[in-house]
Amino acid sequence: MQKNHCEIQHLTAADYRKEPFEKAILPLGSLESHGDHLPFGTDSITAYLLALEIARRIPGTAVLPPLPYGMSEAYKEFSFTVSLSPGTETAIIRDILESLYREGITRVFILNGHDGNIASIEMASRTAKAAHPAMKIVSLDAWWNTLGQLLPPGFFEVWNGLGHGGEGELSIGLALFPELCEPGLARGVVPRLPPYVDVKWMFSELTDCGATGDPTKATKEKGDRIKEALVDAMVGVITALDECGWDYRSPQAKG
Ligand SMILES: [Zn+2]
Repeated sequence: MQKNHCEIQHLTAADYRKEPFEKAILPLGSLESHGDHLPFGTDSITAYLLALEIARRIPGTAVLPPLPYGMSEAYKEFSFTVSLSPGTETAIIRDILESLYREGITRVFILNGHDGNIASIEMASRTAKAAHPAMKIVSLDAWWNTLGQLLPPGFFEVWNGLGHGGEGELSIGLALFPELCEPGLARGVVPRLPPYVDVKWMFSELTDCGATGDPTKATKEKGDRIKEALVDAMVGVITALDECGWDYRSPQAKG
């Protein structure tokens, strides 16, 4: 195994003394069905590989091991789902943030790969922030929605590329871990969800095959562009935060 200096799992105490880092990226995932065409661990593998690409371009940034389980209760009717309850997941994220603070890491970027984790991220981050106001925590909660702001209109063919195991998610899989993808088995359905509001669905109400969206439209080329757009944007965000010392007040407020 090749040592990667972005991956805290690979480093020794001597490595860390020599080159301490000041920021950490926490990737979050899930273990749940993504249809017949993507692996159960898609969300954590995607979040981890994106985090490594980002950290590679920003000195002094380490990537924590990804949390391979998430809050997947809505997906439990599809095999193989291993889910954390919301309270457990919030406590795990909160404990990780507390440990980072104790280590003197006060700048944390949470890179989420799974929709069910968003509420836990919010709860854990808000309580960590309230307990330690010096901590700076930012999160990319839903990369699949952020893509709408990063890619030109019409980039995706169906449903803005959305979907669990859909056009966007299989495309990025084909770019990041093609050897684990089975595009020949791709199948999904586009549900009739109403605009403006958030429907609290069980996934089995939306699909019979463990996937939504249209993964048959996924390509590696689209995935490469999605990856590039996300990594460039997040490197830009973190670099800009570094430049202002993660102080996001208006300059007028400082006087
Ligand atoms: Zn997923």
